[in-house]
Order: sequence, then C-alpha cells, then structure tokens
Amino acid sequence: MERKRVLITGAAGFLGSHLCDRFIREGYHVIGMDNLITGDLRNIEHLFQLEQFEFYNHDVSKFVHVPGELHYILHFASPASPIDYLKIPIQTLKVGSLGTHNLLGLARAKNATIMVASTSEVYGDPLVHPQNEDYWGNVNPVGPRGVYDEAKRFQEAITMAYHTYHGVDTRIVRIFNTYGPRMRLNDGRVLPAFIGQALRGEDLTIFGDGSQTRSFCYVDDLVEGIYRLLHSGYVQPVNVGNPDEITISQFAEEIIRLTGTSQKVIYKPLPTDDPKQRQPDITRARQILGWEPKVHRSEGLKITYDYFRSLPHERLYEEAHGKSFTSFAK
Ligand code: UDP
Repeated sequence: MERKRVLITGAAGFLGSHLCDRFIREGYHVIGMDNLITGDLRNIEHLFQLEQFEFYNHDVSKFVHVPGELHYILHFASPASPIDYLKIPIQTLKVGSLGTHNLLGLARAKNATIMVASTSEVYGDPLVHPQNEDYWGNVNPVGPRGVYDEAKRFQEAITMAYHTYHGVDTRIVRIFNTYGPRMRLNDGRVLPAFIGQALRGEDLTIFGDGSQTRSFCYVDDLVEGIYRLLHSGYVQPVNVGNPDEITISQFAEEIIRLTGTSQKVIYKPLPTDDPKQRQPDITRARQILGWEPKVHRSEGLKITYDYFRSLPHERLYEEAHGKSFTSFAK
C-alpha cells in the first residue's frame, strides 16, 4: 500500500522532531522542513537513513514547493521561546503569518489536511482561569511577546478563513508548556534553564518571586493529542496540555530534588508581560479526542533529566551561551 505523505515544518525542532518520529512509526512518508534557525539536525539525524524520510532546508516564509502528493501538513516551524522571539522578532512574525499563508496555499493546492501549531500565548496574560477555548485572551500587541502572540493569533484567523472560504480541511492545536528530551539548553525556557544550571553547578534563576504558575505537559502526551486531533475532523481550536499546575518556585524545588544539586535559588527580574498563571482547560480535548495526559511530572522530568545528562559535556556549556541569530535577523 502507498504510504500517506506528511509535510512537517519545524522538523528539526523539539516538537517537530518528536512528530517526525511518531509519523514514521505510524508508517507515513515524512517530509521534514526546517531552516535550522532554532532547529538542530541532531534531533532528526537518526531518520536520514530511512527511505520513508526526506528533508528540505527551507524557510517556509518564502514560497514552499513540495513535489508529489501530500495528504497532511503540520506547520510547527516557529521560534517558540521568549528569548528567541526577542532575538528574532521579525522572523517570528513572518513564519507565523507569511509561513502559514504559504502552507495553507500548499494545502489547498494539494488537497491536504493542515494542522497549525497555535499556543496558549493566544490567551496572553489571562484574566480567566483555567483557560478554555472560548476565552479570547489578554494580549499586549506591542509588548515583547506580541511578535509571537499576534503572529499566532493571525495564524488562527487565516487558518479559519481558508477553512470557511476555500473549504480547506484545517486543525488548530493550542499547545501549552511542553517539555521533554531535545529541548534546547539555550532556549531560555524554565526547564532546560533549571536542569542546565543544576548540571553546570550554577544557581537556579527564578524570575520574579516564583509565584507565577505554569502547567507542564510531557512531549509524548502532547504528540498523542496532536495525532488524535489531526485525525478527528474537528476544525475549532483545541487546547492540548497538562492541567497539573505548579508555581515556578515549586518547580525549582522539584528540579533541585531530582538533580540532587546543592546550589541555591536566586531571583532575577520578571520579564515584561510574563503571564502570572496558566492552566489549560482540556474539557474539549477529553470530549472530542478522548485524550488526556498520562505521564506524571515525576516520570517525565526523570526521562528529560536523563536525556540532558547523557549529552556530551561540552554541549552543556556551549549551548548554554547560545548561537548567533544575527544572520537571520531580517
Ligand atoms: N523562568 C524562570 N527562570 C528561568 C526561566 C524562566 O523563573 O530561568 C520563568 C518565566 O519567567 C516564566 C516561567 O518560568 O514565568 C516559564 O517560562 P518559560 O520561558 O519556560 O515559558 P513561558 O510559559 O513563559 O512561555
């Protein structure tokens, strides 16, 4: 039987690479695409030997051409952490807007089903708690996070327009904080920051007083939710995340216990517009997809810690200091 063909953008990134693995395992032909600004080929190196896998180094903000049939498109390309979108704000806006437009055009031309990766950031610093899909959000368009949040809000709008106006089969997944192996040590997010600090023997940096909350979902749970949503036929946005909410201070304590570090916690200023609380209401995902997260944080954190521990020692230091984005910062 012919394999179904799926294009995954952001294939070399954290989520994209896990999606590639899952679709390969399910028997799909996977076409990965990434311009490697924030992605890393090491995340998908193991796939290059497979006939079922091919890869294009391409920026989806420019016209996208893929030869042959396409059944599914998953648009997961985007800088996705606050320090990334501070460094490359224009690229962040372009991949969410122009990139999404190009991929919707491709989906239309190929008669493919397309899923776009949206985010809990569409809710901004939420005034409703927990956040369900009917909440419209509280976003500062001109704040530092605006480039990401508004690109993703535009992405949802244009995706819905392609569905209603052109009849394209679309999906919108609103992804909440997710963690697991292959997160970048230098992406600035709290989990790789804390684990990296513990492994290097540095103090753990809490931004603000640590009372802000997040709800962390293990990557395998997220991928399962995405896989189900893609095959569900449901076109309205769906939250996928883990409702198990904790404060950043509690999270730091968990990392300290897990890693056995003797370092202490130090406090730094809270970044502008850092949301005070975040917890997904996953009623819709439960009802429509029969999905809920299964992996407890203690288990997921252990797997993730083992991954970071297994990295070559130099990476812990080199990557922590970041790589230059300047050549891309158009
Ligand atoms: N944070 C922190 N220390 C760090 C990195 C992040 O206290 O070294 C905080 C950050 O201010 C935010 C939370 O952890 O309140 C989650 O941040 P992250 O960047 O992981 O994701 P966000 O949910 O803010 O997009």
